[in-house]
Amino acid sequence: MSSKVRVRFAPSPTGPLHIGGVRTALYNYLFAKKHGGDFILRIEDTDQNRYVEGAEDYIIEALNWCGIPYDEGPGKEKGFGPYRQSERKQLYREYAEKLIDSGDAYYAFDTAEELDGHRKNHEEKGKTFIYNWHNREKLKNSLSLSPEEVQAKIDAGDAYVIRFKSPKDEILQLKDIIRGNMEIDTNILDDKVLFKSDGMPTYHLANIVDDHLMEITHVIRGEEWLPSLALHYMLYRALGWDAPKFAHLPLIMKPQGKGKLSKRDGDKMGFPVFPLEWKDPKSGDISAGYREDGYFPEAVVNMLAFLGWNPGTEEEFFNLEKLTKSFELERVHKGGAKFDPEKTKWFQQHYMQEANNEELANKFEEILKEKEVTSNKAFIIEVVSLIKERAVFVEDLWQQGYFFFIAPTSFEPKDAKKAWKEDTAALMTELSEFLSSVENFEAENLQENVKGWIKSKEIGFGKVMMPLRVALVGALQGPDLYKIAEFIGKEETLNRVNKAVETLK
Ligand code: GLU
Repeated sequence: MSSKVRVRFAPSPTGPLHIGGVRTALYNYLFAKKHGGDFILRIEDTDQNRYVEGAEDYIIEALNWCGIPYDEGPGKEKGFGPYRQSERKQLYREYAEKLIDSGDAYYAFDTAEELDGHRKNHEEKGKTFIYNWHNREKLKNSLSLSPEEVQAKIDAGDAYVIRFKSPKDEILQLKDIIRGNMEIDTNILDDKVLFKSDGMPTYHLANIVDDHLMEITHVIRGEEWLPSLALHYMLYRALGWDAPKFAHLPLIMKPQGKGKLSKRDGDKMGFPVFPLEWKDPKSGDISAGYREDGYFPEAVVNMLAFLGWNPGTEEEFFNLEKLTKSFELERVHKGGAKFDPEKTKWFQQHYMQEANNEELANKFEEILKEKEVTSNKAFIIEVVSLIKERAVFVEDLWQQGYFFFIAPTSFEPKDAKKAWKEDTAALMTELSEFLSSVENFEAENLQENVKGWIKSKEIGFGKVMMPLRVALVGALQGPDLYKIAEFIGKEETLNRVNKAVETLK
């Protein structure tokens, strides 16, 4: 086995990638990059009944959007392909047969009805039916039937599955990087199906064969696979292969902390649980995605990295580069990680502030176009630098700065009421006259002049500044008022003051 770290993300294309799946991919990516290894994408599509059109493309697009592209996988062949299990179908049977030959697996002919009958019988007696050492000799399989009977059944085309023969009376020692050592009594295990009657391998067999053939060194996957670890250990042993190292990631819990975060929770609670928007190909239903909701991938990645891991310091802002340096599987938590949608916003706000003004301006320009506003890039960049501290999303820039581009179309009634008193119209008319006499409209100079004027009138600043803000902005919000006046210019400032006087008298 090569000593180079090779990890894989192995989703089943049964729908859009849940945010938990993205976290699994991210941890695999970080581990690979930290150790100079390869991050492989394998599509586990052996269950054709659950295959969903478009899911594979979605998975790939989601990884790319997050900035964690795979090194090897569909379309990026590096000698270990194909990377879709449906294209590797012919490969698995050989290993199932090997296990039969070595006595580690057997043919089982029990029909679905027969198994159901056994289950019901047991239930009536308050017991659970487990297909394993304590009853396998009494069931219909190649351990109970003679070789001739078995051959006759196979020749007659009787349906069968291949089951793993789990050993009796053995204590298995399992290791997990996150959970440490575990012991499992094999007597409680059932004889899992490895090969189905439809000629397809089950997840267990395909997964082990592929991880071995693809020379995977570390299997990093969700906690829901921990119960399968014993079987996987036994399969590696039976096939005479070294097992990779395992790390099972904690579950992601609902914001209230009770129960696993499900695909439906997002719609119910009003936050996305998918990286990208997803349109269900059958129902046409749309589920929200972080990308379309305006989140930056940096924020989503930072949030996900901390969902079950932390660096052991107080620091919380980690971009991919920093994550790659700091990430350690040993620091991943065992307990479930509570999903916190507010925290994602908090990260988003941070990365919004970090974002380059020119790039933000490019995105903001799209919104301005939709509003049919034209403006020049340099001006947009300056506006962005003034207002971005009040924005969480690019979308917010309009709400925080429309007044730099268009005159307010209405006045926020609550604010107007607060700012506009009986004598305000007269005062604003006077102010307008005064402002016409100011030549230099740069914020600093303007401030000096207006302050002087207010002082000379011996009135409070609020009496002037509040109505002036309502006139220029339409509400009591926005950045420095002198900056706004400078940006929109003298003529526009006077127009807006006069318009407010007319409208609000
Ligand atoms: N196909 C499995 C899944 O979608 C992969 C589990 C694993 O990584 O072994 O969860």
